[in-house]
Amino acid sequence: MTMSKMCESCGMPMSKDPQGGGTNADGTKNPDYCSYCYADGKFTFEGTLPEFREICRKAMIGHGTPKFMAWLFTRGMSRLPRWKKQVTQ
Ligand SMILES: [Zn+2]
Repeated sequence: MTMSKMCESCGMPMSKDPQGGGTNADGTKNPDYCSYCYADGKFTFEGTLPEFREICRKAMIGHGTPKFMAWLFTRGMSRLPRWKKQVTQ
């Protein structure tokens, strides 16, 4: 179970997060979100899914991810718990 845990905001495998998770306001670890998405008790990005998707897609391409893979990965984000609520509203 822990092996397949992904960030509930961006979908990155938590095992790839160098910090091992986001941080809560009290300094404890937040196991639901990665350190890129969640720090000091709040999301590092506040906005809509299409905006967030675009940021992530460009960042992945910037890190050498093939365009198709980046597109495929960000398309799956609508299924993540953080965005599911926004999408169904
Ligand atoms: Zn994340």
